[in-house]
Amino acid sequence: MNKYYVTTAIDYANAAPHIGHAYEKIAADIIARYQKLLGKEVFFLTGTDEHGIKVEKAAKAAGLTPEQFVDNNASKFKEAWKRLLIEPNYFIRTTEDRHKNVVQQVFSKMLAKGDVYKGSYTGLYCEGCEDFLRERDLVNGVCPNHKAAPKEVKEENYFFRLSSYKDKLRTWLNSEPSPVLPIGRRQEVLNQLEDPELTDFSITRSRSALTWGIPVPNEPDQVIYVWIDALTNYITGAGYLSDEESFKKWWPADLHVIGKDITKFHAIYWPAMLMSIDVQVPNLVFGHGFITVEGQKMSKTLGNVLDPIWLCDKYGADSIRYFLFAANTFDQDGDFSRADMINQCNSHLANGLGNLLNRAVSLMERNFESKVPDVIQDQKCLSMTEECATKYHEMMVQFEFAKAVRAVFDIVDEANKYINDNKPWALFKEGKKEEGGAVIATAMSMMKKAALLLAPITPDLSAKIIDQLGYDTELSSISVNSPEYKNPIPAGQLVRNKGPVFKRIEEEKDKE
Ligand SMILES: [Zn+2]
Repeated sequence: MNKYYVTTAIDYANAAPHIGHAYEKIAADIIARYQKLLGKEVFFLTGTDEHGIKVEKAAKAAGLTPEQFVDNNASKFKEAWKRLLIEPNYFIRTTEDRHKNVVQQVFSKMLAKGDVYKGSYTGLYCEGCEDFLRERDLVNGVCPNHKAAPKEVKEENYFFRLSSYKDKLRTWLNSEPSPVLPIGRRQEVLNQLEDPELTDFSITRSRSALTWGIPVPNEPDQVIYVWIDALTNYITGAGYLSDEESFKKWWPADLHVIGKDITKFHAIYWPAMLMSIDVQVPNLVFGHGFITVEGQKMSKTLGNVLDPIWLCDKYGADSIRYFLFAANTFDQDGDFSRADMINQCNSHLANGLGNLLNRAVSLMERNFESKVPDVIQDQKCLSMTEECATKYHEMMVQFEFAKAVRAVFDIVDEANKYINDNKPWALFKEGKKEEGGAVIATAMSMMKKAALLLAPITPDLSAKIIDQLGYDTELSSISVNSPEYKNPIPAGQLVRNKGPVFKRIEEEKDKE
């Protein structure tokens, strides 16, 4: 199993991306980079969900056709991800022909299987949710998420026979290791599955209610509605019905990274749909927590919706990536605070890691003409580094990014302490050149390992550190099997002093 296929939820293309969207995509990018570090071949898919009533309405309000509107928004997402160093292998758009074909074929396959039937439905429909709500979901008669009263809607729709799959879903959900994480969410999903109100669900809308969508094959009055259209992006992206070789290679997905609010759709609807079309279910669905901004939920009314491109211009991608995942626990809700980000980046990246590198490289430059001397490095420090690396890997595979980062900074802190305790500058003054050289070389080996382990989170910073330590190998081609990863810094390697790898972020005098 030397492949890893990771996906994110596709973002609804009715507005530009914000830091909440970015959080999930950075996480998936970290996971993708980490799996590559482990030596796996990785496919990372993200994209935009482009059909639906909300897009149709927003396009109209902007005076654009839906096509123009989603083109604009999709490029905003792509640009933001580029700036944040998020590097998907493919950016899928649900309006692309390959995907439309998959959606229609999936519908036809379900119909042929007897899992799709026509029924009449009367329900309370919230346009914001694009979903029918139940009486008990309402708070004072309105949708709690959208603060709007749902409309009573009655129409002929196609339904998916979810009821046929409850037993199979129960067995899958109870399998080990849990296909749903965090583990508490598995129980939530199992409870939802037993809810008698979780019944067959409608998968089409009448054209009068929804025009911007993929029509039902041979029945243009019915339009395929969000679930089939959006969820099937994961198989389209892997090559389903367009590139069977690729599909065979990548599917099933190793991991769907999603927001906790859509766990039900990914752990009940989606596997049931896959069972219906005889495609394997995914290996793992992970529902992450949400990010607030300065302690408050992001909202247009509060004016605290953070634009990732603006943030990147101001602070750099590494700072944002580092802070989001060093300071928050991925399976719980977290917060993005600019003051905290500045503090943590300055203290960990500029002072802790950056100054250490700068000191070591300068000492090597002054005392050894930048050439790593042939010395015996401190075994105790090197094995301590390996213990921290082991801890880091244990945390990374559990998506415990903050704890993984902590393990890396145990190495950095130890290297700082080691240099301060052994004072190589004093050793050089006493004429103990070899001892001094051993101290610096050891600290460099520790920093090299720290940089490689941090690379999934701070790719730019890590590349700069590796470069200054004299490695010529591209960061992306180093895995745990490479000599660059396994061995201490080799004698004879030329380090390159290029100044600070991470510039301190200056506190803002005026709040903008
Ligand atoms: Zn709603």
